[in-house]
Amino acid sequence: MKWLQRKMMILMITVGTWDDVDPDELSYEELLALGEVVGTESRGLSADSISSLRSVVYKIQNNQNGSSDTCVICRLDYEDGENLILLSCKHSYHSECITNWLQINKVCPVCSTEVSTSSGTGTPSC
Ligand SMILES: [Zn+2]
Ligand SMILES: [Zn+2]
Repeated sequence: MKWLQRKMMILMITVGTWDDVDPDELSYEELLALGEVVGTESRGLSADSISSLRSVVYKIQNNQNGSSDTCVICRLDYEDGENLILLSCKHSYHSECITNWLQINKVCPVCSTEVSTSSGTGTPSC
């Protein structure tokens, strides 16, 4: 059931109801229904495309304004040395978080820019 809860979380963030819904209160049938919604509306990237995204290692910077970078998917602050994926829109996320996200929805969770991979325009080698 863990995979389903993760999909639930992503779906709820997508529709903006995360704060109102407690997954523990949903029935198994409701969980299944949500899982099917995610499944039928899946327009995600392939694993190959995701793996070709630009990855970076997060480095803590001492900003004077004290702003810290936070992964909006899991809502945790990045830690020094963590692997992130930098999207073409300059937003970055934990590689694990954005990988799960992009498998379902190939847009940036923050700005809704469609994620494109630079290798997508070439002709496939045959
Ligand atoms: Zn994260
Ligand atoms: Zn973005």
